[in-house]
Amino acid sequence: MIYKTHAIIISSNEVKEYDRFYGILSAEHGKKDIIAKGVRKITAKLACGLEPITYSEIFLAEGRAYDRVTGVIIHDQFTEIKKDLEKIKEVRKFFKIIDWLLREKSLEGEEGREFFDGLVFYLKLFDQKDSDNLKLQLVKFAVLWKLIYWLGFQPQIFCCANCSEKLKEQDFYQMILPSGIVCEDCLKTLRVVSQKQRTSKDVLKILRIYYQKNIKTAFKLKISSQQANEIRRLTIVALGNILGRRVDL
Ligand SMILES: [Zn+2]
Repeated sequence: MIYKTHAIIISSNEVKEYDRFYGILSAEHGKKDIIAKGVRKITAKLACGLEPITYSEIFLAEGRAYDRVTGVIIHDQFTEIKKDLEKIKEVRKFFKIIDWLLREKSLEGEEGREFFDGLVFYLKLFDQKDSDNLKLQLVKFAVLWKLIYWLGFQPQIFCCANCSEKLKEQDFYQMILPSGIVCEDCLKTLRVVSQKQRTSKDVLKILRIYYQKNIKTAFKLKISSQQANEIRRLTIVALGNILGRRVDL
């Protein structure tokens, strides 16, 4: 059976002389490995539409082990990204983290769709010549925090992770990952072994928006570079806990 899917190509690997494996993130089917036969011989449109960091509509024939590419319609090649080695590195790093996270669990249905749309949104922003770096980071972190939530690792950010009391208004909170924010009273009595992350009230607000709203909402938020660094640190620790390895963001 032949079917089509909207996908972002995240990786490619050569097999045999002319065949190639591709890792794709599909809007409809989550993360998937597919095969294209004779792709290096044809070197034509097919190969072009399957280059990593491309958004394509891919036609696939169901196979026993891997589904096989029969056709490709290119939607976006992200040429500004591909022109810039630093941007390519950045996207590859991001794809790698997403790939690791989606090994834990595949996203399907509405979550898969929102994730896919969010990722395309991020890539389109990054593909602009003068993309606002802080906005870009906000959207990138939004994608990651949505994944953290969907995969079931969302820390508590609305009440105390220990006593479940509503959090009082304060300028700074202490986040203990992977559990979440712990209130002042509990901090006094708890013997905290794991590392505490100082979290400002503005950053906590952003984390709540990440949790409650669509990924694209992140683009409308305002952020300072200091807050962006704070979110980066939190994200690195949160992802490190999930993946059991240090990630570079
Ligand atoms: Zn408490």
